[in-house]
Amino acid sequence: RTSTATDLFKGKRQGHRSSALTLTASELLKKTSHTIIDNIGNTPLIHLKKLSAHYGVEIYGKAEYLNPGGSVKDRAALNLIKSANLESGQVVTEGTGGNTGVGLSMVASALGFRCYLCMPDNVSVEKQLTMKSYGAEIELCSTKFGKEDDGHYTSRAEKVARERGGVYVNQFLNEENFKAHYEGTGVELLEQFEEIEVELGGFACGAGTGGTIAGVGRRLKEVQEEVGVCLVDFKGSGLRSYLTTGKFKSEDEGSTSAEGVGISRLTKNFEKGRESVDGVVKVTDEEAVATALWLAQNEGVWIGPSAGGNVIGAVKYALYLKARGRESNVCTILCDGGASYMSKMYNKEWRDKNGLEGVEAKLPKVCGRF
Ligand code: PMP
Repeated sequence: RTSTATDLFKGKRQGHRSSALTLTASELLKKTSHTIIDNIGNTPLIHLKKLSAHYGVEIYGKAEYLNPGGSVKDRAALNLIKSANLESGQVVTEGTGGNTGVGLSMVASALGFRCYLCMPDNVSVEKQLTMKSYGAEIELCSTKFGKEDDGHYTSRAEKVARERGGVYVNQFLNEENFKAHYEGTGVELLEQFEEIEVELGGFACGAGTGGTIAGVGRRLKEVQEEVGVCLVDFKGSGLRSYLTTGKFKSEDEGSTSAEGVGISRLTKNFEKGRESVDGVVKVTDEEAVATALWLAQNEGVWIGPSAGGNVIGAVKYALYLKARGRESNVCTILCDGGASYMSKMYNKEWRDKNGLEGVEAKLPKVCGRF
């Protein structure tokens, strides 16, 4: 435990925050304009030109890392808080792989609420410090606990909320997460491709809660049925097996070192868009990290490992579409930025100690499993 939460859950807070607490979160949100949270979403579309030239397919990234809290999860966080209809003094609690926690603590800070966030103890120290900087309290939970265990970070968040009177927002179950992408990211993407007059052939991205792929995928299929939607599956995830056999079974030893991705059970948010997913590619951690390192040095795009995996997954999917004579312009999600991983994948010592020795800024030969 890195903090004690006794004070946080006492109810109405004293001091500078109390003045904002006479309105609920949704009432406060109606009143905002030109605040930090009004700048969530409407992220740029980036054509990864050199990478595209290298592989002979056109790859685009939706730059979610340019959201104010630095990740795609700002969108879900805003919706989760909006729908929680928080009352004055209530504490937002959540189990998070990190980015949802950053988004929640930023939104909560802007609206005058507090957060208590439980997370695995391998979440990057940069994200932990970011959440604390926004005023959140965090609890680190051992990664040895499985989803069903009391010590798992989601079980802890639920229990803390129940026992101390917090509001558990539950990004895995709460469909506001899916909605953020169905009503936001997916719509923006379609508009952006129309604007640049490029025909979209496919969309590829990984899943943590599944909110992004389900929301974007479903929106794309509803508007342009011919666009392919492909899951990028990371090491240790059981989703590929689920999509191909109907059963969750991890195909790899161990799990990915990329934070925020990989599922070994069906989440309600993934389920919302499951029917839209018609392809799956597997990416290795080496491919994900090498691609991210290369993009930082060659495209000026500094992203985290899940985004690196998404990009190389998008390349694989684009090559698959091209080989079948289909439109092969593929878009993916640049989930978060490199600054959150300076102590991890952007540190050679860390790479060497975590099974990524020898991985350098070099585009991988693509011969992945489809
Ligand atoms: N990448 C990162 C870095 C994340 O934090 C998340 C969120 N878990 C994802 C990808 C996956 O997003 P989603 O939860 O919408 O599936």
